Amino acid sequence: MLDKILIANRGEIALRVVRACREMGIRSVAVHSTADADAMHVRMADEAICIGPPPSAESYLSIPAIVSACEITGAQAIHPGYGFLSENARFVQILEDHDITFIGPSAEHIRTMGDKITAIETMKSLGVPCVPGSDGPVPDPAAARRIAADIGYPVIVKATAGGGGRGMKVARDDSEIESAFQTARAEAKAAFGNDECYIEKYLQAPRHIEVQVFGDGKGNAVHLGERDCSLQRRHQKLFEEAPGPLIDADTRARIGRTCAEAVARINYAGAGTIEFLYENGEFHFIEMNTRLQVEHPVTEAIFGVDLVREQIRVAEGMGLSFSQDELEVSGHAIEVRINAEKLPDFTPCPGRITQYHAPGGLGVRMDSAIYDGYSIPPYYDSLIGKLIVHGRDRPEALARLHRALNELIMDGVDTTLPLFGALLQEADIQTGSYNIHWLEDWLRKTLT
Ligand code: ADP
Repeated sequence: MLDKILIANRGEIALRVVRACREMGIRSVAVHSTADADAMHVRMADEAICIGPPPSAESYLSIPAIVSACEITGAQAIHPGYGFLSENARFVQILEDHDITFIGPSAEHIRTMGDKITAIETMKSLGVPCVPGSDGPVPDPAAARRIAADIGYPVIVKATAGGGGRGMKVARDDSEIESAFQTARAEAKAAFGNDECYIEKYLQAPRHIEVQVFGDGKGNAVHLGERDCSLQRRHQKLFEEAPGPLIDADTRARIGRTCAEAVARINYAGAGTIEFLYENGEFHFIEMNTRLQVEHPVTEAIFGVDLVREQIRVAEGMGLSFSQDELEVSGHAIEVRINAEKLPDFTPCPGRITQYHAPGGLGVRMDSAIYDGYSIPPYYDSLIGKLIVHGRDRPEALARLHRALNELIMDGVDTTLPLFGALLQEADIQTGSYNIHWLEDWLRKTLT
């Protein structure tokens, strides 16, 4: 059993993990950079330790600093949150070598899923439906042209090491394929130090649907339905909901079972998300995230479970506290991401919060680490809060979101909040009729 966990993260997710630890009677250790000395996760954890200067590379991403913090504080395990070191196989390998428990999957699984070509090959072999595409890496422009013609235009060239929407280029016809291939390759080389690329059919108007899975590391796994995260800007999600407005119970059970069986067969441990593009009733695998997602609270809301608690249980070898049969969807949940960003360009807008009042009431959850007088440092991600609402059905969740947004006060910095009030006025949002391009089209019309 674990009695002390170090949280290798900051902001709302660090606080989220502190809360789960406290409910489980486990002591928590916060780590922080000098820029975060006054942060809420530092105040709320049982212990806190400074691990370096403001730049992430020298603090939250510094493996020696984090391993030393574990040794100094006697923490037996590390929860990585999302981002930072959460999908870094080398980090997990080092922890395994130091007998520190990583609350997440094995280094091997992180490595497999971190390379998109290997991930696709693995998922294909496990019976998960994939996007039609090149089998493996594409060696040169001539091969790219041949493969693209075979698949049929439009196609998308993607970096196997890709992430954060970088290293992807669409080619609409034969005249574009060569430059798309060369550009994607150059971008991948610059961003990831690995220029290996592959080609997929470019789906025109899909939805982004992701399935939450959970494995116990011993060959058992369950799924916790799907989330629809189609409302994105530059591949960054802004509004997520569960269940997906288009997905019925049979479809959920079918794709959920496929995903759970796949991760069970590889003895996957902990939380994972299998991302799909969904078009014309078909699922196409794009990637797997081997960590907790930012949007996990919408799944927690509709299943009434604490996913961080389950992650900790699995890391302790205790297995999951529920079986597939016990997991039933209840109602509908929506999350909106509050970023400290200035519209219309979404430029990061750090600064001091002069007034903060969180909304409350039935079915409202506010996950944020800000407080009155808090100064958002300029060094990190601009996400400063997530507002999550839960209702008996989608219309109730939408009405509750509207109500909660009206209660919320966050003064002093520009945020993405004004967008959501406007979004709720849109008929397509009310009916759930949107795809991955909808938000960018709407932003273009609304903000210019
Ligand atoms: P990243 O790891 O950079 O986030 P993903 O493979 O998850 O890359 O893709 C990010 C986004 O790019 C998807 O959510 C989707 O909007 C778009 N995309 C990726 N592959 C395709 C495809 N084959 N067809 C259409 N859009 C795609």
